[in-house]
Amino acid sequence: MPESIKTLPLVFDEPRKAKKPPRHLADLTAAERKAAVESAGLPGYRARQVSHHYFSRLVDDPGEMTDLPADLRAPLAAALLPELLTPMHTLEADGGTTRKTLWKLHDGALVESVLMRYPGRVTICVSSQAGCGMACPFCATGQGGLQRSMSTGEIIEQVLAGARSLARGEIPGGPGRVSNVVFMGMGEPMANYKAVIESVRRMTEPAPDGLGMSARGITVSTVGLVPRMLQLAEEGIAVTLALSLHAPDDELRNELVPINTRWSVHEAVAAAWNYAKVTKRRVSVEYALIKDINDQAWRADLLGDVLRSYGDWGWVHVNLIPLNPTPGSKWTASRPEDEREFVRRLELKGISTTVRDTRGREIDGACGQLAATTAAT
Ligand code: SAH
Repeated sequence: MPESIKTLPLVFDEPRKAKKPPRHLADLTAAERKAAVESAGLPGYRARQVSHHYFSRLVDDPGEMTDLPADLRAPLAAALLPELLTPMHTLEADGGTTRKTLWKLHDGALVESVLMRYPGRVTICVSSQAGCGMACPFCATGQGGLQRSMSTGEIIEQVLAGARSLARGEIPGGPGRVSNVVFMGMGEPMANYKAVIESVRRMTEPAPDGLGMSARGITVSTVGLVPRMLQLAEEGIAVTLALSLHAPDDELRNELVPINTRWSVHEAVAAAWNYAKVTKRRVSVEYALIKDINDQAWRADLLGDVLRSYGDWGWVHVNLIPLNPTPGSKWTASRPEDEREFVRRLELKGISTTVRDTRGREIDGACGQLAATTAAT
């Protein structure tokens, strides 16, 4: 890894000044919560009680916090639990086990999250930015540009909203818990690094300071912002890293993932390999199969060769995603026989490969289309 990559300036954070969302309990560490409560003229130890209600009991209604004096509930909620997300629409598929919600943020920006319940696991796909600045031409979110990055509290509230509906038995299958979070909703998480890392800390911190989730169940997906990938490897939190590669050669990747003109296929793959080496966690390579664009047999071979050139110790897993065409797009998903051949060639090279299931396709579960449609009307 060239040393120079690490020192490149990071121009993708906070592209414009936006009015900050109200401060929320989930933005703060335990010490900061205590200080916030004290500065509102309330006893500091109350912060821990509110955290317990929020993260462990999944209660956000001050009326249900019956161990708090009635006259303190409203001021505590005002200090720590402002409403960050307003639900605008909910769409369901798969008998209600896939549920997508469109949220309005305090400044009117729209984001979405998707809950997917499988036997034995529940995954919530969260947004980390309203819009996205990465401009990948096959992605609906990429077409609208970036509005703003989300706060830690706004990210966490998407998970908590899902956790509450599960705990209350609103999702078919009985009461349940969130086991996995994937940063595969709107936005580029590595371009909102600080808030994303802080939200991962809130998810993994034991109760009552956080949700007590396993870092292994959290996946951060990136277009390949190399300096941030290197930084993530040093954080000491073993989340799963996913790299959205989509092409094994720079010529095509420059078109499909424009940031490739800044950090090439080899730089991005080297940073992913470095992550696997440092954290001992297998990384995922995401590859949307697009008919006659990136699904040729020779590209499967080249992808296998590129990945294998970093070693064959099982450091990488390839996740093929059938393209979910965006409205008006000239691109579509690969033919079944081309998809099968792509998988076969990768497996021949010894690369573990799966094809992602396309849950929630009929509710545009894959790619920011609901927010895009609503914004346009
Ligand atoms: N910005 C991050 C995370 C957001 S999208 C990233 O790019 O990794 C999560 C995944 O969905 C990415 O791999 C992205 O390339 C993929 N994706 C976006 N639009 C898609 C579409 N129309 N069909 C299939 N996959 C898509």
